[in-house]
Amino acid sequence: MNSQDLLTPCYVYDMALLRDTIEAIKAEIKEHDNYFVHYAVKANANPNILRCISESGLGADCVSGGEIKAALEAGFPAKDIVFAGVGKADWEIELGLDAGIGLFNVESIPELEVINEIAGRMNRRADICFRINPDVGAHTHANITTGLAENKFGISMSDMEAVISASRQMDNIRFVGLHFHIGSQILDMEDFVALAHRINHLQDQLEEEGINGVKIINVGGGLGIDYNYPDSNPIPNFHSYFHTYKNELELRPGQELHFELGRSIVGQMGSLLTRVLYVKEGHVKRFAIVDAGFTDLIRPALYGAHHHIELVKIAADNTSESAKSSSPTPLLYDVVGPICESSDVFQKDCPLPPLHRGDLLAIRSAGAYGEIMASQYNCRQLPHVLIINEA
Ligand SMILES: *Cc1c(COP(=O)(O)O)cnc(C)c1O
Repeated sequence: MNSQDLLTPCYVYDMALLRDTIEAIKAEIKEHDNYFVHYAVKANANPNILRCISESGLGADCVSGGEIKAALEAGFPAKDIVFAGVGKADWEIELGLDAGIGLFNVESIPELEVINEIAGRMNRRADICFRINPDVGAHTHANITTGLAENKFGISMSDMEAVISASRQMDNIRFVGLHFHIGSQILDMEDFVALAHRINHLQDQLEEEGINGVKIINVGGGLGIDYNYPDSNPIPNFHSYFHTYKNELELRPGQELHFELGRSIVGQMGSLLTRVLYVKEGHVKRFAIVDAGFTDLIRPALYGAHHHIELVKIAADNTSESAKSSSPTPLLYDVVGPICESSDVFQKDCPLPPLHRGDLLAIRSAGAYGEIMASQYNCRQLPHVLIINEA
């Protein structure tokens, strides 16, 4: 495709990298027939991507009825779908029970009571895991840390025995396991070590109380990706991730270990392509005003997240000497979008070759929490999507 014709802003998804990433996961877990990976659909629900992941045999971790529908449409078997989330509406619970999904991750007693009641009415039984708040802090951004004691997510560790006992009084509920999730974009394996040790302790505690029947331990997701060097590290270090759990977590005989990976599966296979609309020379700063904004990729504005930005193609009519030189001296640009909010900044002081109107930039590592979080604020169009390297 001639890049002149490319409509921007546009997400480009590299299916070859997605397939390689999934193969890397499968290679790590293949000798463990009790390990199951569910893809966290919330990271990217593009139908092509979901289809590729479902065909690879991973399950789906869904947090809404819409995600359950998308997963079913993409071919995930219902039994391999897990439904998580702190605020499940009645229709979403009905949808999950009706489809026969494998598991519900439950976050409170009121929710458990509603699932029990709806399941009874529908003559079904729901297999459930409790999401326990392990009070393990991940070394990541405050807005994406979820495992601390004071949190809207999960059930406090001190209530664990009580909720399990309560669930055993309910006719249409079967307690099958424990679920944890400590946050996202975690690169320090020590955080996962801390979670594993906490789970070991909780399992000991349950056994001392005579509570057994924990078939599933679900350690959530959260493995991070290299936003600084996407070309050096296109595939996350799954080896050290899975080995951390293998070495540190004391599974009981017959227990399954579940993982819910999102970002680490789809993050690196996506880039957001955007064109330079204007270069504005300020008195102190130099701005590259591009046609993508936080409506297309909100992570920098929302979390202060860093994405590597690079020039991929100079404008066809740009014949300046600097553009023709193979390695022109970089200049510092604030790369900003068109939206009427001062937070609409992709990167400050970003080193780039001298830019001109029409130049095409790639905002890298944008496959996770990018397109799926796009909005139409300012009555903007949703970003375009281009799929490359399809099998
Ligand atoms: C968001 C989320 C995930 C996926 O997180 P990643 O950081 O994208 O791997 C997994 N489990 C739960 C409960 C989540 O909320």
